Amino acid sequence: MSKYDVAIIGSGPGGYVAAIRCAQLGMKTAIIEKYSTLGGTCLNVGCIPSKALLSSSHHYEEATKHFEEHGIEIPGDIKVNLEKMIGRKQAVVDQTTGGIDFLMKKNNIDVFTGVGSFKDATHIKIEGEETTEIEAKYSIIATGSKPSNLPFITIDKERVITSTEALKLKEIPKHLVIIGGGVIGLELGQVYRRLGSEVTVVEYMDRIIPTMDAGLSKELNKVFKKAKCKMLLSHKVEAVERNGDEVIIKAKDKKGADVEIKGDYCLVSVGRRPYTDGLNAEAAGVKINDRGQVEVNEHLQTSASNIYAIGDVIKGAMLAHKAEEEGVFVAETLAGQKPHIDYNLIPGVVYTWPEVAAVGKTEEELKEEKVAYKVGQFPFRALGRARASGDIDGFVKILADEKTDEVLGVHMIGARCADLIAEAVVAMEFRASAEDISRMSHAHPTFAEAVKEAALAATEDRALHV
Ligand code: FAD
Repeated sequence: MSKYDVAIIGSGPGGYVAAIRCAQLGMKTAIIEKYSTLGGTCLNVGCIPSKALLSSSHHYEEATKHFEEHGIEIPGDIKVNLEKMIGRKQAVVDQTTGGIDFLMKKNNIDVFTGVGSFKDATHIKIEGEETTEIEAKYSIIATGSKPSNLPFITIDKERVITSTEALKLKEIPKHLVIIGGGVIGLELGQVYRRLGSEVTVVEYMDRIIPTMDAGLSKELNKVFKKAKCKMLLSHKVEAVERNGDEVIIKAKDKKGADVEIKGDYCLVSVGRRPYTDGLNAEAAGVKINDRGQVEVNEHLQTSASNIYAIGDVIKGAMLAHKAEEEGVFVAETLAGQKPHIDYNLIPGVVYTWPEVAAVGKTEEELKEEKVAYKVGQFPFRALGRARASGDIDGFVKILADEKTDEVLGVHMIGARCADLIAEAVVAMEFRASAEDISRMSHAHPTFAEAVKEAALAATEDRALHV
């Protein structure tokens, strides 16, 4: 039987990054993945394919709606070839997952294909084409998550679908009804709206992206409405029925009145649930809590002291970069180092256009914690760079401590915010004040100038270009 210092179950961004870091630190490492491709949800049916379709549909929208104003004329009709678009997405996925195979080889990590289940705390059975068993001194559970559902909905994967099916549809829906106005629903909703679908978003809460700063929800809602998406907020879905190719969604609005929406596809995007099926965690003494998460302490150690868990399968934000940080954290802990993760500084991003990005505390959280804060806000519309490219929607908002001026939260919606947020993370990691940011030179003309201007606004209301 092969023996390892560490075995990792699951090859998503948590698992494969943990494997690389363990190998870098000199541990004999194995990774176990039940699917034939590595990379987990993120690379196969999550972050990467959704961004590929967002990019393709963005190009289409630019070509059909914005080329003309730039003086670009295309003779004849511009058409979508969905099969080709989905094919390109798959090529991007294949190339990216292939890259993980390369990284595993480069770092001498043994890859096992099959379902990993604990026999006890140091032995793992792997059931693939053949059954193997390995021994591992330490294990890391990185089994991720699956789409969750409402108890009364049957996901038939044809017309009532999850994000996984929405990434490989064979036709453009005529009317896509999306249950859930969170990140995944909105990103995919924007893809199909751009491609010509009528889109209705049904959200239970009174705003979309409800965990983000309310200012961002409001602005993004405006963007969707401008694109003629129907936004049904404070609506409780009570039934989803199929009638041939038609899907009927029955809901109650906030006054309790019945609402019926008919579409040809219904995307259920009501969140994701931690996934531990088939892991046989009990045999290793690993506790699963009543939310289905693997229970961990502050060292990400489970109730079995030689077994750790990371990523979507434990508490916290279900984000690829959070899983990656935890993968590195556990590898370094096993190597005797004292790593640290500041969960307050894990940024959250929505890859719609305009992009939405945030780090730190929201205004709602600061109010609840009774922290006195100042707000500096700057609109993209006032930037030369934004006008040059025609991306004038959105703003950057900086929240700073009233007394010390320390930056407590940065919330932005606009062009390239997914990348701009990195500056805010760096600043907050070094506990910068709003004035610190405002005194750093930002290249002109760039979208990043909005961060400097918002910092100036937060300092002493000193923004220069409004
Ligand atoms: P996963 O990526 O879920 O990987 C777990 C792996 O474990 C899977 O491959 C699974 O097959 C394997 N596995 C499970 N059980 C076993 C077993 N017993 N034996 C062997 N293998 C097993 N996050 C972002 O940060 N940015 C984004 O833009 C983004 N976009 C997303 C878009 C969509 C449509 C979706 C669905 C998700 C998106 N996410 C995004 C979330 C992101 O995909 C997850 O947070 C991330 O994949 C979690 O990583 P993980 O390593 O914990 O688990």
